[in-house]
Parts: sequence; C-alpha cells; structure tokens
Amino acid sequence: MITIIIDGVNYSVERGMTVLEAARANAIDIPALCFHPALQPSGACKLCAVEVTGSSGRATTILSCVLKVKEGLSVKTQGELVDNARIKAFRKLLTMAPQSMKIRGLADHYGVDLGPPPDGCIRCRLCVRVCKEIVGATALRMEKQDGTDYVAPIEGRCIGCGTCVNICPTDVIRMEDQDNIRTISIRDSVIGRHPLEICEACGKRYATPKFLAHIEARTGLHPHVKEEHHYCPTCAKFMSDRVKSFSRQTRRLR
Ligand code: SF4
Repeated sequence: MITIIIDGVNYSVERGMTVLEAARANAIDIPALCFHPALQPSGACKLCAVEVTGSSGRATTILSCVLKVKEGLSVKTQGELVDNARIKAFRKLLTMAPQSMKIRGLADHYGVDLGPPPDGCIRCRLCVRVCKEIVGATALRMEKQDGTDYVAPIEGRCIGCGTCVNICPTDVIRMEDQDNIRTISIRDSVIGRHPLEICEACGKRYATPKFLAHIEARTGLHPHVKEEHHYCPTCAKFMSDRVKSFSRQTRRLR
C-alpha cells in the first residue's frame, strides 16, 4: 500500500491503481462516462480531470482514469482548473450527443450549466418572416426565455394557413388535419386549432375560415366576379381549366 493525498487528505491505496480507482475506492466523487472496470482506460470523455502540481510548481489537470498513483502524489478534485476542464469536457460531449439526458443530468449534478436542451429549432426565423412578409398575418415572433430565443405565437393572430409548417426546414412546427379540425403546434405546444371549410365542389375539408377571410380581405373580389365560391386547390384548378376551355370554344364559334 502507498499513501496519496486527495483534496488535502491522506489515503492509503493499492499500488498500481489509477487515481480515479483510488478516489472511488474511498467514496470520492469524480465524474467519468468512459470508464469501465472491465476495460482498459481510454480517456475519451475527459470528465475525470484532477489538478496535479508538477515538479516545476505549475498546476495542471490530468485525467485521473489514466494517472497511476505513486507515493506522496497529491491531487485536487475541485477548484478552478478542474471546473474549467470539466466544463470544456461536458460541452464537447454535448456537441457529439446534444440530446443526451445522461450528459445533461451529470452536468447538472456537478453544477455545470449547459444551457437549455436543444429543441430542434435552428433559429432560421423562416416561419416568422414568411408569416409576416408573405402571409401578412404576423402570428409568430421570436421571444427570449432564459437568455435563449424561441419561436412563439402572438395570441389570436394565427389563421391556420400552415405556411410556417411548409417552410420550416426542421419538424419543429407541425400541422395535423383530423376530424375537420386543423391543429398547428410548435415544439409540443398547440398554437392554434381551427375548423376546416368544405370545398363546394368535392366536399373535401381544405382551408380554415380565418385563412379564407384573410385572403379575401387582402385580395378583394375581382370586379367581374359575380359570385364567390370556396373551392379546394384541386377543384379550383379544374374549374379554371373548364372556364378556359369554354372561352376557347366560344372564341372559335364567333
Ligand atoms: S421553427 Fe422552423 S422555420 Fe421557425 S425558426 Fe425554427 S427551424 Fe426555422
């Protein structure tokens, strides 16, 4: 047995052990995700850094899973150097496994703030911009929560057109048409539920009354239009093709 010093306390440990093994054998907490007692240490996760002062007197961090104990070795498992090395390691792990709750949970346990978990949104703001610039409803905005920007609905503005869903390059905004109701959600929150209007020609449910009213208000009725119809895009195309062909035939007969 030999004596090492961990955080200023002497411990009698077995020769040949690593500092991580010696610490754990004495109930001293050092984080490590890549360590397994049945396998050779690899130093992959880099979470188990401890502070060691070299013969030059300069303090540095070394991975405790690969550092072997030796008589009189003194290490610190806490302090600024260790904290910095740990934060760096946690952040690097998170870039490789951003959805891992195991990494987030462990970071939380050691007081390392990794920021809010990723929500899948890449903050391109296409949804916010298209809703404002093209649709003209301005139903979405970016909202800061705990220092991070999130896409958020503006109460009562959504007209249920689904343009944001179509333009979103991720699946953060979703739309579902079921039982004659259109539901639009951001992340896991429903931002709008809208009844669907029936196509006069085929009976299919195809658009929300708010959307149809919005388009009507924006475009206005053409002066030559005598009556207004609500057709789904397929029937609208069919009707317009029929009108075109009828006009062609009429021209030929003249
Ligand atoms: S919700 Fe989609 S479209 Fe909107 S900012 Fe996020 S990724 Fe971009």
